[in-house]
Amino acid sequence: MTDTHVHPVQPAWRERALIDDATYRAWYERSVADPEGFWAEHGKRIQWMVPFSRVKEKNFDENVSIKWFADGQTNVAANCIDRHLASRGDQVAIIWEGDDPNEQKKVTYRELHESVCRLSNVLKDHGVNRGDRVTIYMPMIPEAAYAMLACARVGAVHSVVFGGFSPDALAGRIVDCGSTFVITADEGLRGGRKVPLKANTDKAIEIAGNNGVAVEKVLVVKRTGGDIAWRENRDVWYHEAVERASPVSEPEAMNAEDPLFILYTSGSTGKPKGVLHTTAGYLVYASMTHQYVFDYHDGDIYWCTADVGWVTGHSYIVYGPLANGATTLMFEGVPNYPDAGRLWQVVDKHQVNIFYTAPTAIRALMGAGDAHVTKSSRASLKVLGSVGEPINPEAWEWYFNVVGGGKVPVVDTWWQTETGGILITPLPGATDLKPGSATRPFFGIKPQLVDNDGQVLEGAADGNLCITDSWPGQMRTVYGDHERFVQTYFSTYKGKYFTGDGCRRDADGYYWITGRVDDVLNVSGHRMGTAEVESALVSHDAVSEAAVVGYPHDIKGQGIYCYVTLMNGIEGTEDLRKELVAHVRKEIGPFASPDKIQWAPGLPKTRSGKIMRRILRKIAEDEFGALGDTSTLADPAVVDDLVANRQNKK
Ligand code: ATP
Ligand code: MG
Repeated sequence: MTDTHVHPVQPAWRERALIDDATYRAWYERSVADPEGFWAEHGKRIQWMVPFSRVKEKNFDENVSIKWFADGQTNVAANCIDRHLASRGDQVAIIWEGDDPNEQKKVTYRELHESVCRLSNVLKDHGVNRGDRVTIYMPMIPEAAYAMLACARVGAVHSVVFGGFSPDALAGRIVDCGSTFVITADEGLRGGRKVPLKANTDKAIEIAGNNGVAVEKVLVVKRTGGDIAWRENRDVWYHEAVERASPVSEPEAMNAEDPLFILYTSGSTGKPKGVLHTTAGYLVYASMTHQYVFDYHDGDIYWCTADVGWVTGHSYIVYGPLANGATTLMFEGVPNYPDAGRLWQVVDKHQVNIFYTAPTAIRALMGAGDAHVTKSSRASLKVLGSVGEPINPEAWEWYFNVVGGGKVPVVDTWWQTETGGILITPLPGATDLKPGSATRPFFGIKPQLVDNDGQVLEGAADGNLCITDSWPGQMRTVYGDHERFVQTYFSTYKGKYFTGDGCRRDADGYYWITGRVDDVLNVSGHRMGTAEVESALVSHDAVSEAAVVGYPHDIKGQGIYCYVTLMNGIEGTEDLRKELVAHVRKEIGPFASPDKIQWAPGLPKTRSGKIMRRILRKIAEDEFGALGDTSTLADPAVVDDLVANRQNKK
């Protein structure tokens, strides 16, 4: 990828920032030279019921085992709520913005405390104990956060399943973790449309029952008041139960390594994995990254647009911000309802200072035109963040210049469900920005690039991204399948955590995620990331989004197959196709010349908005019989269209 120009730290960012470049370097050096000392100190950022004396216990070899602060005891909900009552009981903890722009609600820390205590008692009254798994299948309403925090308070392990998932996907997750208690709502509301959550739950419970797991209780939040089926003795109205419950609840003293939650990965590369995170290390890492990556200051209004069904929602809507006593905004709706200006209207309405979203949303809003953005003020913004996929420089620049008016730093944060929190990222007051690069490692993170034989690559290099030491937020196992954990992450390169992502390190030591290793192209011996070709395509004015995969090619080994979504109103002509080929040759080089370009009105994405290249690869390879696990696919119709119009027909 050609180095785009650098955006240096602006004086205003540095003045405001908690961490400047010299501090970043000093802390980073210490964090990797003396991890025990560094984390012993930062482990104290949370409140302990029993202090820890042990810090890091890590084995990345055969008997993989990871423990942090193992002899300490704490409670995550107490850290996110009770701890703040004395100093900020009347401060707003959660701003809820409804799907309908006229609906909103503000919840103070004191109100949050009461709601979570009552719900904790409901859970206990129904026999939910420490270690029991509770499935949460909810719309983006404050009760979703209450449910997570109530589980944490009583020591139950939550498994949040995104409200957009089907009954089958929900059932699979209920069965996988053996969860007999489900919290849901009658219906959800997204983009003006109703989502039949309770009906889906009923179906999922039936499927789970046929697969050996009998759900005993379903707690139902009344969101829309729509018609739903009711099963006496199993279904319980949330509002009735919490009203009857006591508002007094003592948080359980949890061991640092007790499980906090299970969360299934997005399924971009295969069957989702049940990632298990534990209590103390996770909270230390989520809260610390939230503070420094977003340069969070007391009083800032913080908004992450993710859904609580994804890890971003766990770490950066609920746990990180609340542990820091922040005001966190929860948005029920979607970016294009009632129109494509919604996000910026919400920014103005609630005077949002820190805004965190995904490239898929940025590209979609970019495609909808600048006018939707520029009619808002956005003067409150201080930091913009991106997560989920590589952000192509074109979209980065648009985010920086149009959304941020060129005055606000963009933090491109690279991390995974498995990592619990952000691992590679700029810090707003410390890091000169390069569009498209996640830049430098966070404190305590030791990235390493290796070639396919596991040889360590030094200096500027392109390879497979591994992390060589543990950090507190790291996942501990795949729930119920430690062997899969070891196989997936620690067997490819001995003694290292393998991320599955390809990555380039430039001469300044900046990291550029080039895409999944499985997606790396090898064309006539030239290795390149799908992200590089996609960026080149998207940098053309006519292109809104692109996905690139390899397919078998007689001469080159692999050919480059591009699926291209055009900007609104642009027609895919033969001339445009030629122009795009020439454009990629100019941007990257003749070796990256696309072999096939297919116009794609839509791309297959996971429900979290990531492009599923493995499906595109199958289509390009002519193997639609074997599309693999499609349970997390957002819109199956997109795939049918692509199959019908593929370019490889002989
Ligand atoms: P699965 O593991 O089931 O295939 P998934 O990897 O999409 O699904 P997540 O944990 O949600 O599940 O996503 C993590 C991945 O997202 C990373 O490994 C990386 O490929 C990509 N990613 C996340 N943030 C960034 C970023 N800032 N830049 C580039 N890639 C990113
Ligand atoms: Mg993954």
